[in-house]
Amino acid sequence: MKVAVLGLGIMGSGMAGQLLAAGFDVAVWNRSPDKAAPLGEAGARIAATPRDAAQGAAVVVAMLADDTVSRTVWTGDDGVLAAMADGAIAIDSSTLTGGWVVKLAQLAEARGVRFLEAPVTGSRDQAAQGALRFLVGGDAEALAAAGPVFEAMGSAVVHLGPVGSGATVKLANNFLCGVQAVSVAEAIALFEKRGLDVEQAMSILSDGAPASPLLKAVSRRMLDRSYDPHFLVPLMAKDLGYAIQALAEVGIISAIAGAARQRFVEADDAGHSYDDIASIVEPLRRV
Ligand code: NAP
Repeated sequence: MKVAVLGLGIMGSGMAGQLLAAGFDVAVWNRSPDKAAPLGEAGARIAATPRDAAQGAAVVVAMLADDTVSRTVWTGDDGVLAAMADGAIAIDSSTLTGGWVVKLAQLAEARGVRFLEAPVTGSRDQAAQGALRFLVGGDAEALAAAGPVFEAMGSAVVHLGPVGSGATVKLANNFLCGVQAVSVAEAIALFEKRGLDVEQAMSILSDGAPASPLLKAVSRRMLDRSYDPHFLVPLMAKDLGYAIQALAEVGIISAIAGAARQRFVEADDAGHSYDDIASIVEPLRRV
């Protein structure tokens, strides 16, 4: 089966690597071509444009930054939807708003292309190991047809309902992760400023009621000052902005999501745009 992957950032490069490892005929495209080179060496066809990548593909998977980039790549002047074969399957795994994925599904249907939204939980390491969890919204038949592609990239596929359902759950997931990462950063800054043994103090939180996989992973990186990116600061700011929007659409004004987003914006402004979300602790250390 021919599969195209559009977007070879932290997540997309791992996903494309897993598809190659599973034996798919893979074409890849990325705005910055240097990121495609290792996949080319591993056997992928490197395409010059998104349209070129999608030529002849039964399934096209996008893993791009946000709504704006997704809109441009699928539906812009040189958009991919127009080049896809009738009945082919378009999958967008980027974290996007419900409003945009519903619109994209309509545009795909009008073109005769089957569309699935499939945002993911898991991060850089899970993408590289084929251990992502896909939160799928869309048609069950299209999902069944794309099953082998999901199986190569992930360890779980959850069909949540119509297009938009995946975005809702994914944005709630990152809302909770973002808020927790901020509270961990503030707690670590508090411990440091009080002169406590920070490792000992954090072990109380990591072993106690607040413990979570996110708390454990992010606090370790904060304590080690290790900001090699798993998930970039501006993308969490984006996701919290999208979560605020989703909540507002049902009449909930989320002060907590707004306050958490502000910490990521501050870190972005302070020069941590290419750093891991753990770096949000740095502006607090400097307070
Ligand atoms: P990333 O490394 O920053 O990759 C972003 C991708 O979008 C890159 O391919 C980038 O191309 C492309 N892009 C950005 N602006 C563009 C533009 N104007 N035109 C064309 N392409 C553009 O981020 P990532 O971590 O892989 O995340 C990708 C998506 O997955 C995001 O929606 C993110 O929220 C979501 N996500 C991330 C994680 C995680 O832990 N990292 C987990 C779950 C979901 P260049 O290489 O040229 O910049």
